[in-house]
Amino acid sequence: MQLPELPSFEPGWVWLVGAGPGDPGLLTVLAVKALAEADAVVYDALVDDRTLRLARPGAVLEFAGKRGGKPSPRQPDISQRLVRYARDGKRVLRLKGGDPFVFGRGGEEALALVAAKVPFRIVPGITAGIGGLAYAGIPATHRDVNEAVTFITGHNVSGEVPDGLDWPALARGAPVLVFYMALKHLAQIRDRLIAGGRRPDDAAAVVSHAATDRQRMIVTSLARLVEDTATAKMEPPALVVIGPAVELAAGLDWLGAIEGRTLDPDPLKLKGRREAG
Ligand code: SAH
Repeated sequence: MQLPELPSFEPGWVWLVGAGPGDPGLLTVLAVKALAEADAVVYDALVDDRTLRLARPGAVLEFAGKRGGKPSPRQPDISQRLVRYARDGKRVLRLKGGDPFVFGRGGEEALALVAAKVPFRIVPGITAGIGGLAYAGIPATHRDVNEAVTFITGHNVSGEVPDGLDWPALARGAPVLVFYMALKHLAQIRDRLIAGGRRPDDAAAVVSHAATDRQRMIVTSLARLVEDTATAKMEPPALVVIGPAVELAAGLDWLGAIEGRTLDPDPLKLKGRREAG
């Protein structure tokens, strides 16, 4: 296979790269190249071990994330580390889960590089809210279901449910809502959505460790979301999806099918509805 000519990874540069949701097979060609060539890899908690094993032998691997409930390193510290490695003439790979520009603070780190006059490249990755959900058989859009999808963070800079959001508008704005970082404030999120006009019997799913060896999913309703998530002991990282896209998993859980699950070719029961109508 002849790959297209790729940009060379120059010493003194930082590549800010998305590693996708987990499965190393979802890395981009540029991410694999960066792993093979980097002198220093500064990585997040969400980066899969299998991905880190692709790093060049001899590369410095530096963890820059939350671990065991300890607070994460301050963002300026991470940025300063990137600058220091770059000024030492290293090829610096800043590897982040999913996509660096989707709830990933990639922009903040890149702006610190701009301020320090360190050259950088951004390599997008597959974000968990799209690729992770695809591994659970939940499409971000589906013609019979949604003409819009909204991605929301479940907590803001200070760790609270984002107050700056127009929750009633969110509740009614798009048929499918995808929440990142939502497990901690699930009850508040449920309450705000229902208060904003979202139907309590709307389908809901929680997908944890998507696209990894530990992927798990529960399917429930908005009303039962909090209880069922607790009963199933769902753990972060997890995505929470509200809306009829969840029902499609009965037909599109291709990973489940590999393990023997029978897929329903008409998960939305459209055939029945069309015949009745
Ligand atoms: N930049 C990342 C998101 C970082 S925020 C991206 O584009 O995917 C961290 C949140 O992302 C987690 O709390 C969780 O909601 C979600 N997430 C990331 N990886 C995940 C995975 N493999 N499975 C489920 N959720 C994931």
